[in-house]
Amino acid sequence: MRCPACHNMENRVLESRAAESGQSVRRRRECLKCNHRFTTYERVEFAPLMVVKENGNRESFDREKLVRSLTRICERTAIGTAQIETMVSSIEATLQQRTNREISDSELSELVLRELQPLSEAACIRYASTYCQFENITEFLETLARVNSDPTNLTNSIEFAVAKSRSLN
Ligand SMILES: [Zn+2]
Repeated sequence: MRCPACHNMENRVLESRAAESGQSVRRRRECLKCNHRFTTYERVEFAPLMVVKENGNRESFDREKLVRSLTRICERTAIGTAQIETMVSSIEATLQQRTNREISDSELSELVLRELQPLSEAACIRYASTYCQFENITEFLETLARVNSDPTNLTNSIEFAVAKSRSLN
């Protein structure tokens, strides 16, 4: 971070604290060269996430739409509204951590399947048969196997992100 007074790159952080009700971190810095003090803010980047459809069309990621689809899919299962919200938040958090702002329809489906899998096999299969364009049953089974064997634990990655953002404060 360049000093606004002398353009020197080196400075030290005098103070860090949460600002804008936790939406950002405010840091007071002091230039090591001219001792000028200045303030920086660090925020999570919320660039819009785009979903690339099978036909190449792009649409912005719509959290409410995903909640509605999952609500339909989870009818007559033990999965309740709160769990659906948790699943969608977890998917959204995963997407926000990606550097790539675009996700394909099929990648998104895999994230959904990964969330559904441990909760309800029935919902998982219902989702796959409604939203995933599988060429044949083999492809579907392969996707399920991949979802199962993937060691990436979404909960862990979210916990990691939370711990990391706390350590910055
Ligand atoms: Zn300076």
